[in-house]
Amino acid sequence: MCNSDKSRREAFTALGGALGVGLLSIPADGAEVAALAITCIDYRLVDDAVKFFGAHKLTNDYDQVSLAGAALAAVSDKFPSSNTAFWDHVGIAIQLHHVKKVIVVDHRDCGAYKVAFGKDYKADAAGETAQHTGVMHQVKAKLAKTHPELTAEFYLMGLDDKADRIL
Ligand SMILES: [Zn+2]
Repeated sequence: MCNSDKSRREAFTALGGALGVGLLSIPADGAEVAALAITCIDYRLVDDAVKFFGAHKLTNDYDQVSLAGAALAAVSDKFPSSNTAFWDHVGIAIQLHHVKKVIVVDHRDCGAYKVAFGKDYKADAAGETAQHTGVMHQVKAKLAKTHPELTAEFYLMGLDDKADRIL
């Protein structure tokens, strides 16, 4: 490691301490992107998510984090390390690329929701929507408290790739 790498790392660490965050802090790299996209990891919707963000005119204009459950990852006590990753990455995307918006895309038939709530909503689309809506309200409230400068959009995508805006 050369000296400049070391001093840069030390600067990041110092900045992290100053900001009161537990991870290294990242200086802005000069780029600005419109949004931070947060999706589930589910393999069935990876390509659909790319199309979804493209349809929202965000191609190459968003950072992305994929965590099991998407919105659920932010608040479920079943996934504490995902809670940390979710909020850390909101902070990183703001620092690095000055994102102004967070877009969270949940999906139906989500394995993480089944784990967290112990219920399979295959035959109850309305109940499933209500479940996601409740979680999204929690995330939206926490975002408003921790990052009031951000706007937020929440969607629920079906396995047919159609997404409804929930909040
Ligand atoms: Zn999922």
